[in-house]
Amino acid sequence: MNDCLFCKIASGQIPADIVAENEIAVAFRDISPEAPSHVLVIPREHHDNVADLALANPLLAGQLLALAAEVIQTEKLTNGYRIVTNTGVDGGQSVNHLHFHVLGGRGLTWPPG
Ligand code: 5GP
Ligand code: ZN
Repeated sequence: MNDCLFCKIASGQIPADIVAENEIAVAFRDISPEAPSHVLVIPREHHDNVADLALANPLLAGQLLALAAEVIQTEKLTNGYRIVTNTGVDGGQSVNHLHFHVLGGRGLTWPPG
């Protein structure tokens, strides 16, 4: 996936404000935050979306949530948070490398648009 923006962030080719990382995943601040705390959690390995990831590598899906849990702690989202993964055209996905949005730091409305 030579042309994938998030592959380039994961490999360090494009800089990002990294808040947590390990050998399989990276968490970095969204460039256009929608909440006081808005972090994206991505696998280093390219998968288009969460269903593809869960079928190809369910262990990695769990490991990503574990990194999200670290972010929730370090961002001190003790009052709550939301984890979202927009998928496909109807889901409003704009970067086709699976990412979990971790949003918090304010009351979040429901339902989404
Ligand atoms: P999606 O629209 O696919 O659910 O989410 C993609 C997210 O990536 C958006 O919230 C957007 O602000 C963020 N984003 C796009 N380009 C960059 C970038 O170059 N750096 C960072 N840190 N975030 C980005
Ligand atoms: Zn990618």
